[in-house]
Amino acid sequence: MDSAEYERKIASRFASFDQDGNGYIDRQDFNAAAKAVLAEFGVAARSDRGQALYDGAEAFWQGMAGIADVDGDQRVTREEFVTGAAKRLRDSPARFGEIARPFLHAVLAAADEDRSRSGADPRVLARVMKVLGAPEEDADRLAAGLPVGEDGRVAENTIITAFAGYCGVEPPDA
Ligand code: CA
Ligand code: CA
Repeated sequence: MDSAEYERKIASRFASFDQDGNGYIDRQDFNAAAKAVLAEFGVAARSDRGQALYDGAEAFWQGMAGIADVDGDQRVTREEFVTGAAKRLRDSPARFGEIARPFLHAVLAAADEDRSRSGADPRVLARVMKVLGAPEEDADRLAAGLPVGEDGRVAENTIITAFAGYCGVEPPDA
């Protein structure tokens, strides 16, 4: 990957997290992401699934702040994202996956009323990615490329690993 490609990908990932586009990532962005998922799948905020999603979003924000908010001002700037989050994502994608897990678990529950089934249909995953701000072509390609089980669903652990992998971007000459 050359440096222009790297910059483009970092900018794209940052923009996905910066839901309101004000130039930094903070708690509001994670709230906005939760709200967008609830709207997409028609789930009431004042419901168990709605509350679980807001709780997961808060945990995800706390985890993100923990690895990336270097100066502790409760905002993750693009520079902090690149030096903190993007680096930690590369070095330890599994740890990032754990930070995101409660949120992603709640997102999958919001997307599928039948909670006796785990994981998700690839088409639902593509919808989730788009509503979280991923570019359409990335969402379709990534979701379609994930392995499905006999029930046609992608396992939750696979989704979490893929999400962490998507968020991490290899720097040039890595
Ligand atoms: Ca923001
Ligand atoms: Ca900061």
